[in-house]
Amino acid sequence: MATRVALVTGGGRGIGRAIALRLAADSLAVAVAARTRQQVEDTARAAGGGALPLVLDVTDAASIAAAIERTTRELGPIDVLVNNAGIAESAPFAKTEPEFWDRHFAVNVRGPYLMARAVVPGMLQRRWGRVINVASLAGLVGSPYVTAYTASKHALVGFTRALATEVSGRGVTVNALCPGFTATDIVWSGARNIVTKTGKSFDDAVKALAELNPGRRLIEPDEVADAAARLVADDTTNGETVVLDGTAPAAKGVMR
Ligand code: NDP
Repeated sequence: MATRVALVTGGGRGIGRAIALRLAADSLAVAVAARTRQQVEDTARAAGGGALPLVLDVTDAASIAAAIERTTRELGPIDVLVNNAGIAESAPFAKTEPEFWDRHFAVNVRGPYLMARAVVPGMLQRRWGRVINVASLAGLVGSPYVTAYTASKHALVGFTRALATEVSGRGVTVNALCPGFTATDIVWSGARNIVTKTGKSFDDAVKALAELNPGRRLIEPDEVADAAARLVADDTTNGETVVLDGTAPAAKGVMR
């Protein structure tokens, strides 16, 4: 079987980096894409082999076209698309300005739509493909101060479910990963926000976020990467939301 090719958006750090490294370890040829060149180069180096670093902005259709063209030319047609790039900012609803709202939808929903639109037709032609959308528990439940993020992740889950039904039975699957608070920059910056607003210590702020997860611990990026790897190997699961809420034992037993 030819080497499968994966493109991971937001692969420079956090969850995307863990997914890129995991797929490379599973012998896929991986394109690592995000806006910060140094981070995608670092992940690609760590992934070893022929991993391809790409500077990509998922809000920019021309940037997407260039990244897909280069991946196809250098690694081959894309078999696995991991729509992981995302932003998560918090604000009380009254301070949720239209630009703030639109920014979340541009990155978290329109980005995955544009990426999928560019690669799914080829997957269907080749009768094999995986689209893995990194949504969130916020794609399934609501919480305060994150209306824009939550609405965008619900939209991403809806997109996942609808596209999954459309490609069903043709060799392509579309699923969403729904982690709770995960140990990445998103949580560290959320914790800094809490420190500023409440005067709590940074460690207490991180702990408070961890305790919002049903398992009362942070999710590790490697747990999300394991779930992504399982979906790559799985021919049948389609249109599902895979919840990672910390109620299962941690991948590395790390508690924060
Ligand atoms: P990070 O902030 O560590 O990583 C986000 C990644 O997305 C970075 O590589 C960033 O790179 C990239 N990115 C952001 N905007 C764009 C853009 N316009 N174009 C291309 N890449 C972009 O956060 P996480 O690893 O935590 O987040 C990854 C995904 O997981 C997100 O979709 C997030 O919503 C989701 N998630 C995270 C949770 C958490 O608690 N951490 C919980 C549930 C879901 P750059 O800035 O260089 O472009």
